[in-house]
Amino acid sequence: MEMNKKFKKAVMAFIAPYLVFLLIAFFILSIFFMGVEVLWEQFTSPDGIEEITVSSDGLIWPLPGYNKISSYYGLRFHPVKKVYSFHDGIDLPAPQDTKIISPSSGIVTKVYNSSSVGKTVEIENTEYRFVFHHLNYIAVTQGSPISKGEEVGGVGTTGTLSTGNHLHFTVYKNNSRVNPLEIYNFNKEYAKANI
Ligand SMILES: [Zn+2]
Repeated sequence: MEMNKKFKKAVMAFIAPYLVFLLIAFFILSIFFMGVEVLWEQFTSPDGIEEITVSSDGLIWPLPGYNKISSYYGLRFHPVKKVYSFHDGIDLPAPQDTKIISPSSGIVTKVYNSSSVGKTVEIENTEYRFVFHHLNYIAVTQGSPISKGEEVGGVGTTGTLSTGNHLHFTVYKNNSRVNPLEIYNFNKEYAKANI
């Protein structure tokens, strides 16, 4: 009995530091992976969050019901050009002819068809400029006023730089290009709702 106790004590003394080590390692790893998951959520497609469709400036989301992002604003590997280049907007995949609406009232300053970015519309007001690329059809005419929520056109895949139906959406604020998701508080709201 005495021998058995001593043996148990010796075994525990030998194992205890390893158990403590494993416990600490487990906690460190779980905190690390929680962090990775939070980052991952911010850089992958947050779906179906309706409440973020209005920005703090009262802009409405240009593609109601479609919040999934296939390509973010910033440096990225271009799927067609096969090089790293700056992506000046966000890409929102949606079926062909999904209605695109104007985020605010303004003037339709440009309507054109480019070989690379396809059918394009630009809308401006005193603070913002919005650019929409790759449209399948255009519902506005250059020079005409547009009100908030009015149809701009339909989602398409026109232009050689598109690989499928999506809206490319660029935003300028006071003549500086900005991350549209920051304007719409997209990540922040998503984080608030999910973490
Ligand atoms: Zn794009």
